[in-house]
Amino acid sequence: MRHTHSQSAQRRSHHALAGVRVTLCESCGSPRMNHRACTNCGKYNKREALNVYKNLDKKAKKTKEKVARS
Ligand SMILES: [Zn+2]
Repeated sequence: MRHTHSQSAQRRSHHALAGVRVTLCESCGSPRMNHRACTNCGKYNKREALNVYKNLDKKAKKTKEKVARS
């Protein structure tokens, strides 16, 4: 059945997308998505879950390790 513009608008008032929830990593302090491992240090629940050095070349690896230590 055909609706009025108001009825369509009222239904669509619930269609907005919620923003991504972001928190700061407990280990390195960089922004991190909730329920996801940190993309900067690879930790989740203070435990290493991702190997962040795996796909880096030798030079980038060295720089990242240097930053992680400081
Ligand atoms: Zn981190």
